[in-house]
Amino acid sequence: MSGNKWHKLKYNLQEAKNQGKDTLLTFGGAYSNHIYAVAAAGKIFNYKSIGIIRGEEHLPLNPTLSFAKDNGMKIYYLDRTAYREKNLPKIIYELQKKFGDFYLLPEGGTNDFAVKGCSEIISKINIDFDYICCPCGTGGTLAGLISGLNGNKFALGFAVLKGASFLKENVQSLLQNSNGNSLKKWDINLDYHFGGYARTDSVLLDFVNRFTSHTKIPTEPIYTGKMLFGIYDLASKGFFKEGSQIIALHTGGLQGLKGLSERRKL
Ligand SMILES: *Cc1c(COP(=O)(O)O)cnc(C)c1O
Repeated sequence: MSGNKWHKLKYNLQEAKNQGKDTLLTFGGAYSNHIYAVAAAGKIFNYKSIGIIRGEEHLPLNPTLSFAKDNGMKIYYLDRTAYREKNLPKIIYELQKKFGDFYLLPEGGTNDFAVKGCSEIISKINIDFDYICCPCGTGGTLAGLISGLNGNKFALGFAVLKGASFLKENVQSLLQNSNGNSLKKWDINLDYHFGGYARTDSVLLDFVNRFTSHTKIPTEPIYTGKMLFGIYDLASKGFFKEGSQIIALHTGGLQGLKGLSERRKL
């Protein structure tokens, strides 16, 4: 279970147990870090797991789905139209008819339990800092960081999707549920999406390669690479107060590299 996904899953797994559920069901794209993590969590903590994947089946399975299957996840595909409606009661009802009772984890794993789990990241950081940064897919991780900071430092998210101003509302409503509604020291930068989710260009890929060869820290261009690029770029433009300590939260995602290099070869 890599990166931020453990923190997002931790209290959900507990809640599934409290509700007496033995099956986890969730949604994701074919290369999803979340799908990978839920499959691993199911295996480690003895839950059955079902992954509802966007689109059609492609064989052989890509490295993400093949890992998921090897960890016991049942894989099921929804075409893109049905996938878009996955949160509608009629689709959930169909899934219940098909698979029986399950604990439903939303796509990306973000809910109030995920926010609680991510808030604990803050207490694990034992160095002083002024800013903490993370990439944002749904904003659940950022909401957790903000809630854990409790107004003390500034949390800055970097949207990895295009046109993602809705993320600010997502984070705001997640904070509302966790009593963090009054916390104001946070923002989401929308400028470093590089064309959209999972889109990259040579500037970003060059940056990620240089970052990794310079620091020896493996990273990837879909989440952490965009955040790191954003931090360096903002720093060069004087965005951060001089002398600031900036924490970049490495949220993981390295499992996606295999699938990425496979797709490049096509
Ligand atoms: C899922 C994921 C994110 C996004 O987290 P959200 O809580 O959805 O904003 C960021 N980085 C990596 C590597 C991820 O896998």
